[in-house]
Amino acid sequence: MKVLQEPEKCIGCGTCAAICPALFEMDGAKAKLKGAKSQGKSLVLEKKFTKDEEDCAKASADSCPTSCIYVK
Ligand code: SF4
Repeated sequence: MKVLQEPEKCIGCGTCAAICPALFEMDGAKAKLKGAKSQGKSLVLEKKFTKDEEDCAKASADSCPTSCIYVK
């Protein structure tokens, strides 16, 4: 599984960091996908996710107001 975030679209609402602190943290006015690599305009984290991480990544993607989190 892969989680992507587009920092340019992030408005810093803090939702992802609140519901999925295992994967997201606030970094100033933007959220940061922990341990992710830059790939073009996206931050990409590809690894073996635990069930909890997978669930909260999907919840973050569903809850992000600017739809800048993707789970693939
Ligand atoms: S939920 Fe979306 S807009 Fe809000 S901090 Fe996270 S990435 Fe940014």
